Amino acid sequence: MVYRSELDAALTEAAAAAGAEVRDSTALTTLRQQGDTVILQTNRGDTLQARAVVGADGSASRVARYVGVRCAQVDLALEAEVPVDARTADRWRGRLLMEWGPLPGSFGWVFPKGDVCTAGVVAARGNPVALRAYKEDFLERHGLHGPRPSTTPAT
Ligand SMILES: Cc1cc2nc3c(=O)[nH]c(=O)nc-3n(C[C@H](O)[C@H](O)[C@H](O)COP(=O)(O)OP(=O)(O)OC[C@H]3O[C@@H](n4cnc5c(N)ncnc54)[C@H](O)[C@@H]3O)c2cc1C
Repeated sequence: MVYRSELDAALTEAAAAAGAEVRDSTALTTLRQQGDTVILQTNRGDTLQARAVVGADGSASRVARYVGVRCAQVDLALEAEVPVDARTADRWRGRLLMEWGPLPGSFGWVFPKGDVCTAGVVAARGNPVALRAYKEDFLERHGLHGPRPSTTPAT
């Protein structure tokens, strides 16, 4: 179990070490095919030309949209980074938990990272009240409700 920010940084460093040119804080704004090449524009005003483009720009990918990908279903996840005491950290060390949830297509997870447990639930969008109730129940059942979450991102 690793933090996403650390994993991303390690991957970026590895790519740079392998010869990739890293352009941080640069967003692709448009792309279009022109003959055998692709013309890309960025929010920094650069225009790039490529023989091939690898779209690794996530679930709202512009690259995927350009080639016609449409998501059949979009989920909503509720997640918390919960600080835990030494006893709880010991209990979770070397384990992770995933369960199927009570809502269609839902599941919950606990991913321990030492003194923090990442715990959350996900289900198809459309029933946020039931999903919030599932999250509360899930955290309660796994003894993660007491501590105050340090962050509660929702995606
Ligand atoms: C709440 C939640 C918890 C999860 N937990 C786990 C987990 O514990 N373990 C696990 O393996 N997976 C987990 N996942 C799934 C995992 O996050 C995704 O499968 C994975 O991140 C997908 O990787 P990706 O590279 O396709 O996209 P992303 O990780 O979304 O990366 C896309 C990147 O593209 C960038 N980008 C987007 N648009 C542009 C643009 N126009 N120009 C330039 N850059 C752009 C974004 O800033 C981002 O850096 C979780 C997902 C969610 C939502």
